[in-house]
Amino acid sequence: MATFSVRSPATGDVLGEHPVGGPEEVADAVVRGRGAAADWAALDWAGRRTRLLAWKRSLARRMDELADVVSAETGKPAHDARAEVLLALVHLDWAARNARSVLRVRRVPSGLLSAHQRSFLGYRPLGVVGVIGPWNYPVYTPMGSIGYALAAGNAVVHKPSELTAGTGVFLASSFADAVPDCAGLLRTVTGPGSTGRALAEGGVDKLAFTGSPGTARQVAEVCARSLTPLLAECGGKDAVLVGADADLEEAAEAIAWGAMANAGQTCAGVERVYAVESVHKRLCELVVERTRSLAAGQHYGPMTLPTQLGVVERHMKEALSSGARAPLGGPESVAAPFVHPVVLVDVPEDSPAMTEETFGPVVAINRVRDLDEAVERANASPYALGSAVFTGSRAAGLAVAQRLNSGAVSVGSVLGFAAVPSLPFGGTGESGFGRIHGAEGLRAFAVPRSVTVKRFAPYADLTSFATAPDRAARAVELGRRLHARF
Ligand code: NAD
Repeated sequence: MATFSVRSPATGDVLGEHPVGGPEEVADAVVRGRGAAADWAALDWAGRRTRLLAWKRSLARRMDELADVVSAETGKPAHDARAEVLLALVHLDWAARNARSVLRVRRVPSGLLSAHQRSFLGYRPLGVVGVIGPWNYPVYTPMGSIGYALAAGNAVVHKPSELTAGTGVFLASSFADAVPDCAGLLRTVTGPGSTGRALAEGGVDKLAFTGSPGTARQVAEVCARSLTPLLAECGGKDAVLVGADADLEEAAEAIAWGAMANAGQTCAGVERVYAVESVHKRLCELVVERTRSLAAGQHYGPMTLPTQLGVVERHMKEALSSGARAPLGGPESVAAPFVHPVVLVDVPEDSPAMTEETFGPVVAINRVRDLDEAVERANASPYALGSAVFTGSRAAGLAVAQRLNSGAVSVGSVLGFAAVPSLPFGGTGESGFGRIHGAEGLRAFAVPRSVTVKRFAPYADLTSFATAPDRAARAVELGRRLHARF
């Protein structure tokens, strides 16, 4: 069987050799997953919860082991990898503990016309969920689908990014170790895009894809052929809005971290800042101050995907040639395998640095007249994933947040929503569709099942030929009058 190597982005050393899964391996994983899913779905809520929490505790105990794999494969600093694992644990814990309350069968009101019936809404698992993951957060991101899909009663076949295959293998093997009686429930099939394509064609009951919008379009085309439902978590071009009365120290600190952490390779990382004219200059100085002292290897790692260096360089060069300034760094900051932090100022809004996902440690800080203009510019992007607002009062920030199109907004911080498991996460437009996390994230991996139970014969049964026509007509007329009036 053909294999591929995963290499360290820092040194180029081979970290592992993995099989290239093709249609046969994918089909095998889906068929076996279907068998495991039936047993898993037959367990009660408590049985699934107990096992998922056992896996969570095991991952927590093995955090360093997993973080080492993540750090080696992505190049991110060890602390960042550990923090990523912690975030995944928080979500797995929430999904395991809340699946029952979100998905169990409950009574819902039947309404006047159906007062003779009791109505029940419940959710059943889909069956086998395919998960295709990216490399930038190879634990946190796929676990946002894996943990919630398992908690909803499904089996999962996971295709990790070819850059982080070892992380995907670790996740499946740790599940098998921690939950031996359900060992085949989470399976990892390794390989490049062709393996992902095979998974999309492989008869799964839903596909949860995380990656770039271009790949999402290809996956959507394949899913369309078999009407396989798709959840797409794609890129972002997140904006931070800074008002005239904001705490600039707080805003600058958050912007520096949001833009430069993980070397800017964060779907909901900060790429654009809109600061009100009166504070723009000071904010730029503070962001430069904070980013200047960041050290490669300690605060950020190398670029994980070597080809991304070219994209980052192009965005910077085009911005500078169209009038932007760079108070920190510039094209010389691209020094493979690293890109060192870059701050751009006054970047034309039609420059790729403002319109396309840069996915590097580059932040553009533009000036705006007021927060109205900041909202307008933030919303003008084809991406709508996350955003953040800094204003004098949190109440004013909350009011601005309600006017933003992004799927999630943090007021007074960046990426605050990522660590709140009850909040759904996802975007619109180029950022994709569907939601992971929270109650919506559980329902995303379940099918609603609606049931009515007849309690007594109604005055006029509208689902029977035996009902006297004048009685049926009177009932319809009564209903019509009520609706015309209220
Ligand atoms: P990518 O689109 O190149 O690849 C994503 C995954 O899709 C990989 O596993 C890849 O092997 C697979 N793939 C590639 N071609 C395929 C095909 N034709 N059919 C099926 N699968 C295929 O993305 P990436 O470079 O791994 O990740 C970076 C992107 O992911 C960025 O755009 C980033 O913003 C986005 N991202 C989004 C979120 C989110 O939650 N919204 C989270 C993390 C990353």
